[in-house]
This record gives sequence, structure tokens and C-alpha cells, in this order.
Amino acid sequence: MILRDETIFLIEKYKLKANKKLGQNFLISDEVLEKIIDVSDVSENDIVIEIGPGLGSLTAKLLERAKKVIAIELDDNMINVLNERFSLYKNIDIIKADVLKINLQELIEKEEGNFNVKVVANLPYYITTPIIMKLLEEELPIDTITVMVQKEVGERFCANLGNKSYGAITVSIKYYAEAEYLFDVHKDCFIPVPEVDSCVIKLKTRAHKINVKDKKIFFNTIKSAFLQRRKNISNSLSNLMSSKSDVIYMLGDLEIDLNKRAENLSIEDFAKIADYIANKNKD
Ligand code: SAM
Repeated sequence: MILRDETIFLIEKYKLKANKKLGQNFLISDEVLEKIIDVSDVSENDIVIEIGPGLGSLTAKLLERAKKVIAIELDDNMINVLNERFSLYKNIDIIKADVLKINLQELIEKEEGNFNVKVVANLPYYITTPIIMKLLEEELPIDTITVMVQKEVGERFCANLGNKSYGAITVSIKYYAEAEYLFDVHKDCFIPVPEVDSCVIKLKTRAHKINVKDKKIFFNTIKSAFLQRRKNISNSLSNLMSSKSDVIYMLGDLEIDLNKRAENLSIEDFAKIADYIANKNKD
């Protein structure tokens, strides 16, 4: 059965109504589904964490490839469908939980044997950034995160230096992972049709992160610089030091052009600035 018919069949069979508040837009394009599976590169050595499996279209494909799928879904109606649909499968855990509250480290530690962990999901868009930051900040043993997100959000996550989409979130993600923008997905590929287009991105977590003296100061520096992204950095960074002249002195010392804006600073520049401030705080 093609995905569109299957989705409509399940919605009718279980008398469901997509819950907008939970970001329920179901993928109905077989072509996009195949492409996601393809780029996620899941194999029988992988345990896949799927966030928001919904009616289980992506789940069914992942189950064919993975050692195991851990499917985390918040909505009782979806849990009901998933439990029936996959009742005969041995390699799935269907967990009713809010992904932002669940202890993922514990879930992974429970698993036995050798395996890699991959996250694959068509994310609920209203909490995309908190989900991604949770997966990265908790420094879980995850290899890759292949996710469908809103197109503009994906552009921000994967932006290149100097691009208008390059922002605090781009640099923060870059600290933890290499981000790649893979392909666009038109809004007609979902029911109900959302207001925005989507895209699929892939984050490959870094085994070796850039060295910073103080992570808190590093992320604070990024945040401050982008809070006033139109200003040059001699102004936008001035709240981090006691005076603007201190900032100008620091930028001179670090050989960073003070007329640059935040969007022209690389992650290495941010690390240099943050380390300078961390050293200064120690004096
Ligand atoms: N994977 C399905 C697909 O591709 O058709 C559904 C994706 S839909 C965009 C997002 C899913 O995330 C919904 O099933 C929704 O109920 C679920 N969801 C929303 N908030 C959640 C949360 N906090 N924790 C876990 N799942 C959540």
C-alpha cells in the first residue's frame, strides 16, 4: 500500500484527528521516506532512537534495517496505533514519554551488546531546537542525528560562515556536531499540510570538540555576540567586559578585526575570545 493511502486508512480506522499542538503532520511521500532511510544509513548494528513516531511509517522502515528501534511518543492515540501495528516485532520498544523529559542516557545504558546509536525522526517542529540541544548537550553516545525539520530552522542549523542564517544556534551546534543540509521537502508531502516547507538534515557528533577553557563563557560569548548581530563585535561584545576599550584591546591582541559582525566569526574565533575572557576573569 502506498504511504498516503496507508496513512489515511490508519487515521480513519482509529478515528484520529491530527493534534496541531503536538506538531502532528504525517509524512505521506514514499519517495521522501525512502530518501530519509537512505541518508540515515541505518544498519543491523544500530539502535535507532525515533522521536515522535506518530502512526509508525518511518518506524516500519527503520525496523527492517536496525538492530532495534526505541520509539518515543507523547500522544496516547499514537501509542495505541503503534502497539497494535508492531505487536509482533521483537526489536522495538515503544515508550510513552515526553522526549524532553526522558532520561536518554539511562535508556541507552540498558541496552546490551555492541551497537551504535542513531537518532532518526520527523521531529515535532514546536520543540525542534530544545530536542536537538538536549541530544547534543547531554553528550550521549549518539553517532548521527538524521531529522526532518522546518526548512528555515534547518538552514540556520547548517548555515555557512557569513550567511544571513548563521547565528548562535549554528555555532552552538557546530561545537558538538558537523551539520549537513541534505534535501528540501515540500509541504505537500504531509497530511495535514503544514504552513511551512521542511528539509532533512544530518548531524554527525564530534569525537573531538574544539578546546575551550570554560564552556559557560564560550556559549555566553556566542549568545552575546548574536544578540546584537547588526552591530560590529567591538559593540556587541562590550557587555562581556568592563569597558568597550577592553574589548577593543582584546580584539587587537587576538588579531580579530573589530569591525566584523558576529556572523563573520568562526567557531575558532569565538573560542579564542571566550578563552581570553576566561583568563581575564582569573586575574
Ligand atoms: N513520524 C511521524 C511521521 O513522520 O509521519 C510523525 C511525525 S509528527 C511531525 C511529530 C510526532 O511527534 C507526533 O506523532 C507527535 O505526537 C510527537 N510528539 C510531539 N511532542 C512530543 C514530545 N514532547 N515527545 C515525544 N513525541 C512528541
